[in-house]
Amino acid sequence: MKYLIYLLIFIMSLVFAFAQNNIHQAQCVTEFGSKQSPVNIVTGQCELAEHLIDLHYEPSHEHLIHEEHCVKLDYDPGSYIVFDGDQFDFLQFHFHTPSEHHMDGDEYPLEMHMVHFRQDTMPRYLVIGLLFEEGKEDPFIKHFLNAVPETVSVADYPDLQIDISQELMPSDFGSYYHYDGSLTTPPYTETVEWVIVSKIHTASITQIKKLEELEGPNNRKIQELKDRVIQECHSRTITYKF
Ligand SMILES: [Zn+2]
Repeated sequence: MKYLIYLLIFIMSLVFAFAQNNIHQAQCVTEFGSKQSPVNIVTGQCELAEHLIDLHYEPSHEHLIHEEHCVKLDYDPGSYIVFDGDQFDFLQFHFHTPSEHHMDGDEYPLEMHMVHFRQDTMPRYLVIGLLFEEGKEDPFIKHFLNAVPETVSVADYPDLQIDISQELMPSDFGSYYHYDGSLTTPPYTETVEWVIVSKIHTASITQIKKLEELEGPNNRKIQELKDRVIQECHSRTITYKF
């Protein structure tokens, strides 16, 4: 009889553990949905598409933030992008070492994200991603990199200006990839229009190493594409209003 009770307790604990495991798995599935980022862009499997893009970028003063695992520059209000008629305000740009997005399976040493935001019935984002490979020094990164604080802190330079439209943007938007995804940091919100510029930029080994030193590895792993199809866009409809 005693052994029967032990056996019963053993079976009950197995059933309980199995149920807990199932609950945990269900939470994992519902926690992250079906449109997560970053993804691997397989260039041969994209569908052709076009979008209307208007860029409105003004110069900003340099407000540099060295966070725990991120180098970020908060951009002054007033710059924005209009994507298919919806205006998204430009908030900030920051870096990932190594890259979050992959191109045909290739990881790059550096990726820059330009984060734009719009409040509809829910918060929406448009993030422009630029991939960098090792090569010639990037003049835009050079502009502010030495001013980034070495320790986790904020450095505000009211008299120093940065102009993303002059130093980085103009040649970029002839060709890009677009897909619906998520933020790559918590809470992984799935209301992000991703625009990954096709042109691969270069940064010097010194610049890449410096950003690596400041941030450490801060890339989220590649997520499944699931039912999504990435669009390849060669747009002739971009207007620049600086
Ligand atoms: Zn990012």
